[in-house]
Amino acid sequence: MIEFDVIIIGAGPIGLACGIECVKNKLSHLIIEKGTITNSLFNYPTNMNFFSTSERLEIGEVPFISHGVKPNRTEALEYYRRVKQSWKLNVNTYEKVNSVIGDDGDFQIKSDKEIYKSKKVIIAIGFYDHANKLNIKGEELPKVKHYYDEPHAYVDQKVLVVGGGNSAVDVALETYRYGAAEVSMVLRKDHLENNVKYWVKPDIENRISEGSIKTYFNSELVEISERFVKIKTPNGIIEKENDFVLAMTGYHPDFDFLKSIGIKYRDEISKEPFYDDVTFETNVPGIYLAGVVCCGLDTGFWFIENSRFHAVNIIEDIIGKE
Ligand code: FAD
Repeated sequence: MIEFDVIIIGAGPIGLACGIECVKNKLSHLIIEKGTITNSLFNYPTNMNFFSTSERLEIGEVPFISHGVKPNRTEALEYYRRVKQSWKLNVNTYEKVNSVIGDDGDFQIKSDKEIYKSKKVIIAIGFYDHANKLNIKGEELPKVKHYYDEPHAYVDQKVLVVGGGNSAVDVALETYRYGAAEVSMVLRKDHLENNVKYWVKPDIENRISEGSIKTYFNSELVEISERFVKIKTPNGIIEKENDFVLAMTGYHPDFDFLKSIGIKYRDEISKEPFYDDVTFETNVPGIYLAGVVCCGLDTGFWFIENSRFHAVNIIEDIIGKE
């Protein structure tokens, strides 16, 4: 069985940052990634731009040069790939970790390809693989998407966007501008989310108030069929013709995986996992959480910019304990 000082699960930006800290501190490491490098970013909308300026997404002291002030998806993929190469990180891609058992100093990590031993484990699995479902009739239809790609697919189509956060707003504006026949939004609340980017907010508010994006506030999508959707509004249920439902209702960490390892929640409502605020060690000694997996259900709390330091704190703790 192959043995490492540290095994990191997930090669997102923060998993890579943890690998870099291992290299700096001469700890042997392996990063196991079920997709490609930075798989979540790879699956982001094609035309997305980061809200952070590029230097705030940097890891491992590698400068991130982008054409604009805020990088796009392609630039970020290129950047993190180059970081992985320049730090010679040890990454196995297309390998999914299914279980972690054992005790501090002697863990066994089982993937769909191999079994490894490791003294410490860092879980940096993010949350982007697990969409929050609508749990309504018709959700399984192919016209319902929880991941948005690019607007060309929706040319001349009647699109309904579910949600009122940044992703929903971006999708509504982009499909509206790039040829959708009709774009509507449905929101449970009576307002857009407060964290909608301040430079985008006036645009969406104006489109809503002029009626070019018909928006149903205080409303809920209740049923989807091949040609229609049913929306429960304060004035009763309405039926609308519809070609695509873009459900931008957020994502959540793989709670089953965390539970299988024995990681507890701080509380059942937020489902914020238990971790030390400084060392990021969980209630299971020797197992650490890094990056946005720490969010629980409040997935807007941590992002790359403000969670890069997790890697430094975790490896400092591991070195300190040695
Ligand atoms: P992830 O990047 O999600 O990486 C987790 C990795 O773990 C994935 O590659 C996944 O495939 C892998 N994985 C999961 N389970 C397993 C398993 N069992 N075995 C093996 N591998 C596994 N943040 C910013 O700071 N600035 C921004 O401007 C910004 N813009 C954003 C724009 C959009 C549209 C979105 C959706 C997000 C944005 N974010 C931004 C958030 C940021 O991209 C995420 O916070 C970031 O990806 C988190 O990094 P991470 O390494 O914690 O998790």
